[in-house]
Amino acid sequence: MIAINEKRLVDTFLDLVKISSPSWKELPVIEYIEKSTAFPGVEAMRYPCGASFNLLVRVEGTRKGAPVLFSCHTDTVKPCENVRPLLKGGKITSDGTTVLGGDDKAAVAVFVETIRALKEGDASFGPMEFLFSCAEELGLHGVKGFDFSVLKSRLAFVFDSGGDIGKIILKAPYHMSYGVTVKGKPAHAGMEPEKGISAVRVLGEMISAIPHGRIDRETTVNVGTVAGGRATNIVAELAEMAMEARSIDRKKLQNIDAKITGIIKAAAKKRGAKVKIAKTLEYSGFSLGKNDRVVKILAGAMESIGINPSYEVSGGGSDTNVINRAGIKAVNTSIGMRNVHTKKEYILIKDLVLAARLVRAIAERV
Ligand SMILES: [Zn+2]
Repeated sequence: MIAINEKRLVDTFLDLVKISSPSWKELPVIEYIEKSTAFPGVEAMRYPCGASFNLLVRVEGTRKGAPVLFSCHTDTVKPCENVRPLLKGGKITSDGTTVLGGDDKAAVAVFVETIRALKEGDASFGPMEFLFSCAEELGLHGVKGFDFSVLKSRLAFVFDSGGDIGKIILKAPYHMSYGVTVKGKPAHAGMEPEKGISAVRVLGEMISAIPHGRIDRETTVNVGTVAGGRATNIVAELAEMAMEARSIDRKKLQNIDAKITGIIKAAAKKRGAKVKIAKTLEYSGFSLGKNDRVVKILAGAMESIGINPSYEVSGGGSDTNVINRAGIKAVNTSIGMRNVHTKKEYILIKDLVLAARLVRAIAERV
């Protein structure tokens, strides 16, 4: 049995949240992880990515076996400078002026404590890899810039979801983003409006024709921002919008994408305007079943510590999407953080401890 030191786990978490680590400025957290996991048989490697690093920590097993990957991210959303954690009644919060940063430092703390506990104890365990990615919050940049061929694992457990411990994310969407720029023709709005083509009007017609919101159970569309025109007395020459489409199903995303593109082009053509569409596939979706090995191991580990797994579909992306895309079967699960990305973020100590027990239970099973 691997002995988790609960007091040290909480102290590690408190240390970590006090270290400022907005996206791309994770180095102090990386150094803390390196220092805390400096044991024989543990190898920490930094992989440069943008202005920062992804950190891979490899733990040799005491027995042979196929390694598995545990993954979390080291950056936090703003405001995350000078976090002053408060501990009251088994609950850890910030002082209300910042986020807490349990997203995803709860997982960082749990992984660090697990590595320490593994190295100090005499339990038998297989080889493990721990990936600490950077700049996740700005668009999964760390894992997108990581060369997955350096990993030996074929299965991954990502601890980057909120809510009760026991949540298993089986599916997450593909996500396409669009930047649309309409170019019309300027003219004086009062004297010769017939000479102009209003980009604002064309954009408005596009927006009203594009399907919005929940398209079906697996697909959503949203126009997020619009801008355009210069003054009321000028027929607007330029107008633009940023929008997105998501679907769990790749085919459905292709279909809605074709529809959106058709509407945009037709609306521009109808008024003689020009249009530019810049599309980016932000990340690919994934879809796991309850019978996938990675899910079974996770669910079995949960049951072994008295937790009922609850299976969910996510509407958002995480590092899990990119790891799956790289050919490693990855599942995302809760680390117990609550109200994330707000100043009301908190985590219960009992969840932090439970998450550590869960990681231990996985380590004992693989
Ligand atoms: Zn996160």
